[in-house]
Amino acid sequence: MTETKATCCYCGVGCGVLIQSDGQQVLGVRGDPDHPANFGRLCSKGSTLHLSAQPLLQQQVRALYPEMRSSRGQARQRSDWDSCLDSMARRFADTIREHGPDSVGFYVSGQLLTEDYYVFNKLAKGLIGTNNIDSNSRLCMSSAVAGYKQTLGADAPPACYEDIDLAQVIFIVGSNTAYAHPILYRRIEDARKNNPELKVIVVDPRRTDTAREADLFLAILPGTDVALFNGMLHLCLWEDLVDTAYIAAHTEGFAELKQTVRSYTPAFVAQTCGIQEADLLLAARWFGQSKATLSLYCQGLNQSSSGTAKNAALINLHLATHQIAKPGAGPFSLTGQPNAMGGREVGGMANLMSGHRDLANPEHRAEVAALWGVDAVPALPGKTAVELFEAVRQGQIKLLWIVCTNPAQSMPEQNLIREALNKAELVIVQEAYSSTATVPYADILLPASTWAEKSGTVTNSERRISRVNAAIAAPGEARADWQIATAFARKLEKYLDKPSTIFPYESPEQVWNEHRESTRGRDLDITGLSYQLLEQQGPQQWPYPTGASSGKQRLYQDGVFATANGRAKFVNTPYLPVAETVDPRHPFSLNTGRLRDQWHGMSRTGSVAQLFSHVAEPSINMAAQDMQRRFLKNGDLVHVTNKRGSQIFAVSESDELRPGQSFIAMHWGEEYVSGRGHAGTASTGVNALTSSALDPSSKQPELKHAAVKILKA
Ligand code: SF4
Repeated sequence: MTETKATCCYCGVGCGVLIQSDGQQVLGVRGDPDHPANFGRLCSKGSTLHLSAQPLLQQQVRALYPEMRSSRGQARQRSDWDSCLDSMARRFADTIREHGPDSVGFYVSGQLLTEDYYVFNKLAKGLIGTNNIDSNSRLCMSSAVAGYKQTLGADAPPACYEDIDLAQVIFIVGSNTAYAHPILYRRIEDARKNNPELKVIVVDPRRTDTAREADLFLAILPGTDVALFNGMLHLCLWEDLVDTAYIAAHTEGFAELKQTVRSYTPAFVAQTCGIQEADLLLAARWFGQSKATLSLYCQGLNQSSSGTAKNAALINLHLATHQIAKPGAGPFSLTGQPNAMGGREVGGMANLMSGHRDLANPEHRAEVAALWGVDAVPALPGKTAVELFEAVRQGQIKLLWIVCTNPAQSMPEQNLIREALNKAELVIVQEAYSSTATVPYADILLPASTWAEKSGTVTNSERRISRVNAAIAAPGEARADWQIATAFARKLEKYLDKPSTIFPYESPEQVWNEHRESTRGRDLDITGLSYQLLEQQGPQQWPYPTGASSGKQRLYQDGVFATANGRAKFVNTPYLPVAETVDPRHPFSLNTGRLRDQWHGMSRTGSVAQLFSHVAEPSINMAAQDMQRRFLKNGDLVHVTNKRGSQIFAVSESDELRPGQSFIAMHWGEEYVSGRGHAGTASTGVNALTSSALDPSSKQPELKHAAVKILKA
């Protein structure tokens, strides 16, 4: 038996794992004791990774061979790689010639390795000349990206995991860390044991397991985070807890914000957020008086029609109180997916460019074009996730290539997404699993390799790059994602009459070396790193430029930020309510989120029986008071309805929720609700109901709140 170093493929904590195998099949998994993200620990999901990789199961659930169909309505037939890629390349070339490069689009995934992401980004922006490439990270982290860029000047979390050990106050907002980032939560528990003075404040509409353990819990009403942060800043000003010298020396824009927060009085904020004034005051005092306050936040801030403002308002609070750029302090966005960070580094989204470059900057575009050996890269931002599917639905995007993600379950407003998938002239799905809700829409199915079968790198929440190694061969004819993109690109080059290839890659290392070069001189410079160094010295944080002997644990400790003039910027953040307010016809706020033992649409965790022992079936959670009023008891079926759709769920009483609120876990889709999916089915799980109202800056949809009515079935 051999042990191969990799990382867990589930969440942005990025735990190191050792895959135990005989070279043919995965026999077991254990936490890597040397990995600085987890020091050998694994949560319930990570410790059962091997169970999802059993050979018999692989034969049942994996996409094993390329498949193609001659026309819509026909079943796909087994094909071969060359025929599929050739057919695709011809269709792409013809469509690009006839309708222009923006008539094609790519929807990729934070599950991809950095090398995969890099090749797809270059394929879209460099070879085809469209920025129509977006990622499911749009549903996850794009508000955090926009928040960091607007305030600190770059998409770079300034803190690190060690700050959990050093903090005096941990402010957890919109994150059920105990479920969504369990190994980090263990670290918080350890920090509390080691430092009895450590205070944990949790802000969440739900009394989650994370909230139950808090020293102070603020059960705010959905979407009121900006009012809370502005109110805390108001009190910090009142109580003289802001650091005026730091503000004067290292920031700009405070005067305008100060004017704005003047009206966020304790009475107004307490009423808006549905909390006690005394709790607000205590939170502000603990935050501002502490020697080191660390904020940890996730989808509760990001998945919102004011997600960027929520991120910026929290960072404002850190800047004003100088709770940033020192040990134990900082605004630390926890990444949802295992490699959302890597995708951001290569610029694998519709509004980003390689190496954290700016799409609107002609010099940056010229740098990337020179690096890629192309004449130009397009200036016009591409369509972001929701916009991309809308453009498909409208017939503007005709060919859609979906990679390693399941939009027919995970995107909001499913009726429109499914309409788009039916409308597209060609849908290509590149997937490891044949069982996802999106696969039935595929005209061409490309089998992809997955965890334990792939080699490359990932970056976790604390900017730490880890090597991921393949332990076994992929089953059937599945291939690595970067290989598929490379093979297609070479064919497309021929059909577009390009004389030579700009895709010379024969290994992921070759791709990574090119990506590394694209970071030279940028805030995330990793030119001092190599595969060899990562293997010999273990995972490293960026930046790690040429000549460095280590990465940077914390950013901006010298007081210089990544903005043009080096000063951090306060963003004026007035509070705006959720896009879809409740009304007498739709009186409930519907929230969505993760369970402890499941991941995304369950394509992997759903095949591990023991992961259903925590929660076996989907349900809608309601407060006891609301159930009594409606004569509902546990297990009763209810219709959950709004203008976008209607779904039936069993109801279950929850003491996590205030009256007027409800919650459905995000993991179950149509396979559970209505049997194995087929194109055109109406039942789609919670995302039949969620809203695609977008944050104006980040274009992230408001998955954390929709107004619904709930009636007994
Ligand atoms: Fe995997 Fe996240 Fe659990 Fe670590 S905390 S083992 S990365 S799911």
